[in-house]
Amino acid sequence: FLAYFDDHCQRSKQLSDEAGQFIPGGVQHNLAFNYPFPMAIEKTDSAYLWDVDGNRYIDFLQAGGPTLLGSNYEPVRRKVFEMLETCGPVTGLFHEYELKLAQLVNRLMPAVEMFRMLGSGTEGVMAAIRAARAFTKKRYVIKVGGAYHGWSDSMVYGLHVPGTGRLESTGIPRGGTSSTEEIFPNSLADLKRHLILNRLRGGTAAVIVEPLGPESGTRPVPYDFNQKVRELCDEFGALLIFDEVVTGFRVGLGGAQGYFGIKPDLTVFGKCITGGYPMAGGVGGRADVIRCFAAGIGGTGERAYIGGTLSANPLSCVAGYHSLLELERTNAPVIAGRAGDRLTQGLQVLIDKYSLPFVTYNQGSIVHLETSGVMLLDLRNPIRLARELKPRKRMMEEMGAAYMSQGLITLAGSRMYTSLADTDEVIDDALGKFETVLAA
Ligand code: PMP
Repeated sequence: FLAYFDDHCQRSKQLSDEAGQFIPGGVQHNLAFNYPFPMAIEKTDSAYLWDVDGNRYIDFLQAGGPTLLGSNYEPVRRKVFEMLETCGPVTGLFHEYELKLAQLVNRLMPAVEMFRMLGSGTEGVMAAIRAARAFTKKRYVIKVGGAYHGWSDSMVYGLHVPGTGRLESTGIPRGGTSSTEEIFPNSLADLKRHLILNRLRGGTAAVIVEPLGPESGTRPVPYDFNQKVRELCDEFGALLIFDEVVTGFRVGLGGAQGYFGIKPDLTVFGKCITGGYPMAGGVGGRADVIRCFAAGIGGTGERAYIGGTLSANPLSCVAGYHSLLELERTNAPVIAGRAGDRLTQGLQVLIDKYSLPFVTYNQGSIVHLETSGVMLLDLRNPIRLARELKPRKRMMEEMGAAYMSQGLITLAGSRMYTSLADTDEVIDDALGKFETVLAA
């Protein structure tokens, strides 16, 4: 499979070799693993991407999730062009579309009484944590081991990430993580233990979860997990933050909170909130909490400061507003979910046909293809984890490259996002390509 890259991707190779001198790692984005070297993408349309050598790929990476309508979706692009022509990209002042977007988010997710648009999911998480601390006057934030909440100091550390290996970063002062605590995935007992201990030392401001489970459901939660977390938060006076950066509008227009029927205090947005256009992030939730961002402006109360030069620029807001309306009009979450079902069922047939020790499952349009049992390992055994994670990462890279050689772009060979553009024909075509690799 690797011969493909030498034979068909020479321009990409040239560009990425040169980029290595000017860009650390040779690519500005780290998501796709980019093995054996980054493909330079030139053109996109609906279910497809084309690289600079003219090769076409079915796009199941979807930039990590935002393009649920398919790539470069024309009706939204048109609205963005119109805004660009009348208003330009940014003013730093108020635009009607800020209001329209906030009202629409509130209609789709009633728990989001007020909403503040920011630049990324990472920023949304930072703002949610700040609001929770400002509101509760408590100290600790509890996250689930392996969950990804962006790369801010207090969040980018962890026992491990079930999807992609141990996630850790140097360059963070000890104090940066000293008010963050991690619990073992799905362990309510562990959560309760932390909540009890924290009561004696500053309290728990918030519990933050990815509602489908760490890493977009790579380690899925039991159905009642979020409800139990909600109850524990209420018992201990901590706020519940749903990180819906991936799930927001994708698992349904009401997000994971609609699916599970749970009302979080705060919700973090990213990705689909702008339909793939830049500056995709935000935080919303209870009005009494979110108001802390404005307190002080009118001379009352303490303000929790957040900002952003390009936050809520007219282009992002118009893109978000019309993307969400189009998701609603086209029923995209459900249609993409059916595509996810079809892909998963087809992969299961292939796994059985070739007796592979792989696992596939989906949560609507989020499809997992696990090539090892690492996600089921006991997190309390770090030595075994470390031993198993390294070859797994290598295997994910190689599987990802093998799929790419057949014209399929996945998230590191182990996750696929489906979209409105993934018709039965696209999925069946993709399954044929998967089979070439899985048979080998
Ligand atoms: N939370 C979750 C659940 C995510 O998946 C991501 C990004 N993959 C983030 C937060 C961070 O969002 P961003 O990349 O926009 O900063």
